[in-house]
Amino acid sequence: MPPEALRCKECKTEYPLDARYVCEQCFGPLEVRYADRSNADADELRRRIEAGPYSIWRYADFLPVEHPHSALGAGWTPLVRADRLAEQLGIGELWIKNDAANPTHSFKDRVVSVALARAQELGFTTIACASTGNLANAVAAHASAAGLESFVFIPSDLEEQKVLATGIYGTNLVAVRGNYDDVNRLCTELAGEHEWAFVNINMRPYYAEGSKTLAFEIAEQLGFELPDRIVGPIASGSLFTKLARGFEEWLEVGLVTGELPTFNGAQAEGCSPVATAFAEGRDFCRPVKPETIAKSLAIGNPADGPYALDLARRSGGSIDAVTDDEIRAGIKLLAQTTGIFTETAGGVTTAVLQKLAQRGDIGADERVVAVITGEGLKTLECARGTFEAWEIEPQATSFEAAREQRLPIAV
Ligand SMILES: *Cc1c(COP(=O)(O)O)cnc(C)c1O
Ligand SMILES: [Zn+2]
Repeated sequence: MPPEALRCKECKTEYPLDARYVCEQCFGPLEVRYADRSNADADELRRRIEAGPYSIWRYADFLPVEHPHSALGAGWTPLVRADRLAEQLGIGELWIKNDAANPTHSFKDRVVSVALARAQELGFTTIACASTGNLANAVAAHASAAGLESFVFIPSDLEEQKVLATGIYGTNLVAVRGNYDDVNRLCTELAGEHEWAFVNINMRPYYAEGSKTLAFEIAEQLGFELPDRIVGPIASGSLFTKLARGFEEWLEVGLVTGELPTFNGAQAEGCSPVATAFAEGRDFCRPVKPETIAKSLAIGNPADGPYALDLARRSGGSIDAVTDDEIRAGIKLLAQTTGIFTETAGGVTTAVLQKLAQRGDIGADERVVAVITGEGLKTLECARGTFEAWEIEPQATSFEAAREQRLPIAV
């Protein structure tokens, strides 16, 4: 089922499969349109998937690249059953998709792999991005693995861990005095002036397709079955909506049966344009100025906001927001019940999962998957002050005395 064209999501005008992202007729976003799949042979597709590599490329039949490859790799991350967390929240069956287990420790390795493979096919030798943090890590790493030059634009107030874990790859790291939306505006302008593949701007239709592989993996890891509910984070809304697209494509070809899962979106209160629009019954988002510890989700003007709203509504789900304190508590809850240390975005997801459970939105017999998209070591500051260590002399007597007194000192 090869890709056949780029198509406007709004007016359906079609364009060639090159580096473009916006409709010349109506300024709507473009997405990849594939050949008709109605005669697909599900058994044959499944055989091809199961014979494929343990990476996103086992789903190459559903991706817009002719030569599936990635020097660094991405995907096939663990889907782990979270019984202790399920019990604590009163959920019947809970799974954590741990996408921190990617080469640069976030789900962004998936989208960058697809965008980069397509960029190379189109002849680009320089790749670039506007990033909230994780994309910077992924673009810098994949570019160095592929031997390409890269330009990475970030807001200048990004977490130090993410800055260090990007600069190390030898990219041209540009810290912009402004927030992500300022960075994105600047990069949109630069994309018109340079022959560069901006993975999330002029390559966005291909980039976005990479997120479908998260849905494919979840379904395959559940034995080619669908979950009943997905809880996942929303920044631009691309990941959230493409998860649904992945399930829909597999329903269409018969690789899975049943219904689209219920979709619950998660945002931080300090940057919740989509959750606010959901609560107010609007089908568009009002841009906001982000102010939250969940920097990887800090997009005040989300490109796919309207589509995320539509998905939550038509699947019977919701989009909720949580405070920074709830995010910190979510990180701790996930760590202490599953052994998975996630960054602030995962704290947002976990806190929203908890909120849904407390609100009684989740049925007792539901199979729920929470999508954890990033690694706790990248937002280490959030762990500070949440526990205390005992400091002792290197003698057993000192340890026993401390244990008796229970006089831990703050770290
Ligand atoms: C980029 C990102 C997301 C989601 O981004 P979208 O723009 O909504 O696709 C979620 N979690 C993390 C950790 C991210 O880096
Ligand atoms: Zn259009």
